[in-house]
Amino acid sequence: MTITEHQIDAGAWTAERVKAVDKEYVIHSWSVQGSLDPIPVAGGSGSWFWDYDGRKYLDFQSQLVNLNLGHQHPRLVEAIRAQAEELCYIGPGFAERSRAELAEMIANLTPGDLKMSFFTTGGAAANENAVRLARHVTGRHKIVARYRSYHGATAGAMSLTGDPRRWAAEPGISGVVRMLDPYTYRCPAGHPDPCPVCSGGPHLEELLQYENPETVAAVIVEPVTGTNGLLYPPDGYLQSLREVCDRYGIILIFDEVMAGFGRTGEWFACNHWNVTPDILITAKGLNSGYVPLGAMTVNERISEWLRTNMFWGGMTYAGHPLACASGVASLRIMQDEGVVDNSRAMGERLGAGLAKLAERHPSIGDIRGRGLFYGVELVKNRATKEPLVPFNAKGPAAAPVGKLLKAAMERGVYLTANFNVLRLTPPLVINAAEIDLALGVLDEVLALADEHY
Ligand code: PLP
Repeated sequence: MTITEHQIDAGAWTAERVKAVDKEYVIHSWSVQGSLDPIPVAGGSGSWFWDYDGRKYLDFQSQLVNLNLGHQHPRLVEAIRAQAEELCYIGPGFAERSRAELAEMIANLTPGDLKMSFFTTGGAAANENAVRLARHVTGRHKIVARYRSYHGATAGAMSLTGDPRRWAAEPGISGVVRMLDPYTYRCPAGHPDPCPVCSGGPHLEELLQYENPETVAAVIVEPVTGTNGLLYPPDGYLQSLREVCDRYGIILIFDEVMAGFGRTGEWFACNHWNVTPDILITAKGLNSGYVPLGAMTVNERISEWLRTNMFWGGMTYAGHPLACASGVASLRIMQDEGVVDNSRAMGERLGAGLAKLAERHPSIGDIRGRGLFYGVELVKNRATKEPLVPFNAKGPAAAPVGKLLKAAMERGVYLTANFNVLRLTPPLVINAAEIDLALGVLDEVLALADEHY
């Protein structure tokens, strides 16, 4: 098909044509292109999206856990339109209203003394900047990150990432040191009481003695691990990391790209444990992803440091007015419409429903969640905890979970999984009837997992 044919035929975008042109020209993330068969999507509204035949799907993923306000929120769409009419773009060197307003709103909403923000086009770029800034502020170079983490797909963020997608980017940036995760259900240390890994500080302390704490600039963690298994730290864990970092002058970075802005039923995941990082990274829920946006927000001390020291970072689209206007609108909508309260209330309904499902489905090994950030870990045996599909499973080894997800999609509910952990992360504006509908479909498709028990 040539460009001329497209131009002549403009408007005739059938599902078949979207699929064919996509297949020919679009490179999709993390995929062998020839194995893909994506659904051509025609539109969306609230918690739903639909294809060209009008077949509707309940988006129990919020796409990439970013569409917190659901599809096509009218006020958000209108705010982007209004900003587009006023000023689409002005360089980061100028002061601009939406950018200033969003930074001020973030300072007011975030915990503790988090203050100034640098805006990026997403989570990875914000993490890159946080690491570079931490190195400059401390004059040190090592960064401690965890294995079950995802921090983004740019060079530095991929090196910080622990999950197996990192392997293709190795050797990556230097100076990254890894610690184990507080995965209480499958503790890598066998979970003695007290557990040095799951309580955080003792494990970090030991690692620092091997690495030399005076070479460590920052510790970066997702306060609640998203992509790699929906892991909630035990009470005291984040506090314990905070104390060790303070003892050695190490900058603590919380990556709340997925967990921030109401996802866990609090404005920020770290609010559950009253721990404030030195640098907070957000994206996704900051503006529900309507325009690419991420933010690095730094505490008072680093803000003061930046007043007299060079910030070695910048991008053409840092603080893009359309993105910032969508952020301002998104945060106002969240406040006006009680979105964080809805996340908490609907999360309780989802959690109670899942607990009931666990009584009927032996394949449910563990349920972890708060707000609308749930993981359901599927096993072949509750006593041995043998996972339904192993870590890093591909092809036929991953089929049992693949079949379950496909069956849910056929019943009109869009779900994904991290190997054997189902991710249940619907839009924060979801209602009770939609939660119940998803629970009903889960009840049906979990029978497929039970067959392997
Ligand atoms: N950090 C976390 C915790 C994430 O979940 C993600 C993306 O899923 C990222 C960083 C990367 O964000 P982005 O894809 O916007 O670069």
